[in-house]
Amino acid sequence: MGSFEGKVAVVTGAARGIGRAIAEDLADRGADVVVCDLRKEWLDESVAAVEAKGRKSLAVAVDVGDGDAVNACIKEVMEKFGRIDIMVNNAGITKDTLLIRMSDQDWDDVMRVNLKGTFLFSRAVARPMMKQRSGAIVNIASIIGLIGNAGQANYAASKAGVIALTKSTAKELASRGVRANAIAPGFISSKMTDALSQDVRDQMLANIPMARFGEPEDIAKAVAFLASDEASYVTGQCLSVNGGMVM
Ligand code: NAP
Repeated sequence: MGSFEGKVAVVTGAARGIGRAIAEDLADRGADVVVCDLRKEWLDESVAAVEAKGRKSLAVAVDVGDGDAVNACIKEVMEKFGRIDIMVNNAGITKDTLLIRMSDQDWDDVMRVNLKGTFLFSRAVARPMMKQRSGAIVNIASIIGLIGNAGQANYAASKAGVIALTKSTAKELASRGVRANAIAPGFISSKMTDALSQDVRDQMLANIPMARFGEPEDIAKAVAFLASDEASYVTGQCLSVNGGMVM
C-alpha cells in the first residue's frame, strides 16, 4: 500500500480500542494524525504513539454528537494542518437491552453518538475535502448493522444508518474526488469481548469460520486500504471484516 506521507488524518474515539489502533497504523504509514475523544487527557498515549512514529499529532477533546464542537475541531485542524485527507468516524457506544425495555434515552444516546456523530464529522470535512478535490471518509459500522441482534435494536439501527449515510455521502461527493466507505467489523477483541465468559466466547467462536476474534489491527488495515490511493475506484461500499462470520 502506498505511503500516507504528507497526508492528514482525523480519527474519532481514538483514546483506545479500534480507534487507537487506526491512529497508530495511519501514523505508521506516514500520516499526521489528529486524535479525538471525549477528554483530552485520555489521548496522551495515542498522541505519544503517533509521535513515536515520527509523525505530528494533535489531541482534540470533542463530543462527536455536538455540532459546534465538531465544527470547532475541524476548524482547528484546518488552521494547524491546512488540509484533511482522511476522516475516520470510529467513536461508538452501546446501550444494550431488549426492545420492550429500551428507554427513549437508550435509543437517543446511541443514535446521537453513532449516527449523528458520523453525520456531523462527514458534513464538517466535506467542504475542505471538496475544495482539495480529494479525500477519503471511512465510517466504522458493524456486522450488527447488517444482520441485527437481539438486545441491540438501537445499535443495529444506528449502524445500518451509518451504512446508508456512507452511500449517500459517496454519491454526493464522488464528482469532487472524495470517496466514502464503511467497514462492518465482526467481533473484535476489546474490553467488551474480554469481559465475556468462556461459554459465551465459545458460542461466538463457533460461528466464526476463522475461529478467532478479530484484533483492532485487522480493522486498522482495512481502514488503511479504503483510505489509500489503492482504493481510488472504491466508493459507497461496506467492507465486512469478520473472519467469515457473515458472507
Ligand atoms: P471502545 O473501546 O469503547 O472505544 C470507543 C471510543 O470512543 C472510546 O474511547 C469512547 O470513549 C469514545 N467515545 C464514546 N462516545 C464518544 C463521543 N460522544 N465523542 C467522542 N468519543 C466518544 O470501542 P471499540 O470496541 O474500539 O469500537 C470502536 C468502533 O467500532 C465503534 O464504533 C464500535 O461500534 C465499532 N465496532 C466494534 C466492534 C467490537 O467488537 N469491538 C464490533 C463492531 C463494530 P469512552 O471511553 O468514554 O467510552
